[in-house]
Amino acid sequence: MMLQYIKDLSEKLNNTLNAQGIIRILEEFFYPCDVEKISIFVFDETTSTLRDFSRSWMCIDECLEKEKSKEAYQIFKKLESKKYIKNKDNTLFYPISKQDKVIGMLVFKGSSYDTILEFLDYASFSISLKIQNVILSERMQKNIDFHDSMKNIAKIIETQYETNYIIPIIGEMIDKFVSDHLIYIFLKCEKTKELKLIWPSACKDSKIFELIKCLTDNSDYILTPDKKIGIFPLVSENVLLGCIVTKSTENILSEKEIEYLEQLTTQAATTINRANVYAEILQHATLDALTGFYNRHQLEERIKQEIATSKRQSRPLCAIMTDIDYFKSVNDTYGHAVGDFVLKNVAQVIRSQLREYDIAGRYGGEEFAILLPYTEIKDAQIVAERLRKAVEKKKLDISKINSEVAQKIIGVTISLGIYQYKAEDSEEDLFKKADKALYNAKQSGRNKVLIQE
Ligand code: GH3
Ligand code: MG
Ligand code: MG
Repeated sequence: MMLQYIKDLSEKLNNTLNAQGIIRILEEFFYPCDVEKISIFVFDETTSTLRDFSRSWMCIDECLEKEKSKEAYQIFKKLESKKYIKNKDNTLFYPISKQDKVIGMLVFKGSSYDTILEFLDYASFSISLKIQNVILSERMQKNIDFHDSMKNIAKIIETQYETNYIIPIIGEMIDKFVSDHLIYIFLKCEKTKELKLIWPSACKDSKIFELIKCLTDNSDYILTPDKKIGIFPLVSENVLLGCIVTKSTENILSEKEIEYLEQLTTQAATTINRANVYAEILQHATLDALTGFYNRHQLEERIKQEIATSKRQSRPLCAIMTDIDYFKSVNDTYGHAVGDFVLKNVAQVIRSQLREYDIAGRYGGEEFAILLPYTEIKDAQIVAERLRKAVEKKKLDISKINSEVAQKIIGVTISLGIYQYKAEDSEEDLFKKADKALYNAKQSGRNKVLIQE
């Protein structure tokens, strides 16, 4: 009878993948023994702390009262030589062992423990083993996340040249696998030569600002004595470009995380350096590399010219501002390479619907600006509606770009705002007002065309 129970438990444990699953199965299993609560504490060697395994490795100092957590450490030590310990609150502590070493403990809150202890005699081995397996696979997952991040950063190098766009992506990627630390990215300002916070928008820690002042072109990474703040310089071709900072009030950086961060900063530095070099070249270019549209700089030149012509000839001039709907989720779901592919295709669809003398520019990341010379607002509305429908209809096969996604064919929609230039408007007004209509189109549901009067 007992053996059958143990066998069932082992089988159930086998099929679970995470800490919460283990707790659920144990709670079900021990339910007839009047157990109120089961927790699993695991000792973390790098930080020398006990952690709540099922609550994302939260340090028990954070989730227990001071006295209770002190007691937990004492009991954990004693379990080296005891089979189990019951404290004065009638809580049961049972060791989790790896070979002969105690690596954590099962904590039971209940009333009587005779049956539980009897079961644990037989079952503790499979429970310990399962916990070790989950710990191992979590570590492996971290490794996988790291390699994915490296791959992604490498991919961005090939396709992206705007630091404004690259930095948040790098920040988010690093954030993902050192999730219990805050991440900051600083870049050197060309003019002042000082390091300036780029991502996220604020950093309140004055200590960080002090520390980064010490960085030079050949600095190694800096770790504060308590290992809670890490400064990783971004150096490419022997020049300091900026730094990535990690900070935590609770956790210290592990050896492995430091190794990861060093590799990631090297990779990121190369990407940023390329972007800087490219930005310089781009200043002299007229076309955007990804879409073939006019770049922002050139677009602004064309706006000036078209407004002058329209005034001189008293001809109507309209502007369309358009932005892809929920584009961030395309990147997040299918990866940035697919995002780029979609962007390129949307640009092509737009171009195919315009007349030869219409002017299309890439205004920002996934925003396009279109100038329609000799066009009244009602005709601009027809053009915009045609663009909207054409993009909506277009379906893209993304399997060649990312073969790992299940969904092969995807589509996107765009929102559009239009405005007709008026004599009293300034040059900036033209697209500012079209952008206002675009904003309203987004607010009122997306995939639509709105006019700014
Ligand atoms: P909506 O416009 O409908 O409000 O939502 P959204 O998700 O499109 O809005 P948001 O402006 O927040 O996101 C735009 C995203 O476009 C963020 C950025 O990662 C992405 N993006 C900008 N430029 C590029 C690019 O060149 N390539 C790729 N793949 N993504 C880009
Ligand atoms: Mg968008
Ligand atoms: Mg946008």
